[in-house]
Amino acid sequence: MSQRPDDHRRKWNREEYESMALQRLQAEIAEEDLGIPKQPAVKREMLKQRDYKVDLESKLGKSVVINKATPSSQTGGYYCNVCDCVVKDSINFLDHINGTKHQRNLGMSMKIERSTVDQVKARFAANKKKLEEKKRDYDLEQRVKELKEEEEKIKEYRKERRKDRKRKIEESNEPEEDIDEMAAVMGFSGFGSSKAKK
Ligand SMILES: [Zn+2]
Repeated sequence: MSQRPDDHRRKWNREEYESMALQRLQAEIAEEDLGIPKQPAVKREMLKQRDYKVDLESKLGKSVVINKATPSSQTGGYYCNVCDCVVKDSINFLDHINGTKHQRNLGMSMKIERSTVDQVKARFAANKKKLEEKKRDYDLEQRVKELKEEEEKIKEYRKERRKDRKRKIEESNEPEEDIDEMAAVMGFSGFGSSKAKK
């Protein structure tokens, strides 16, 4: 067993498991040799899938003032209301709610119901269907995007053409005014009379 302080691997309590094994052995010996029936184990529910999303992020980036009177459920970190304990970070919180102690407090054993072949097949089919739906949605999205882009291009083209036409009309209709205007501008800003007046 490693004794490194930074070792984050899961540890097993040897003494606890040894005593459990010993108890089991004693019970078996008692049953076989002395004819004493084994104590029926506490019947617990099979392990169930979570039907809610674990909230790990709602308190991210928030500050909370904590004093001595603050109940432990509000001291920051992740609070488990089933076990009434606070866990410091999300990884350990997930470990906790997936762990034996928490599941036992929920009234569940760590045993998992064995799936039948039909259940597995059904799951495969469902996943495949989901994947196909996703692809179809994506195709549709792509098509809509392309149509929009095309429409945008046509609009742009029409706008340019309208401008062109307008320019041509202006050029053919008012050539003199344009020249006059130009001259006026030149006279004003080019060889201004303000200096000459002084
Ligand atoms: Zn818990």
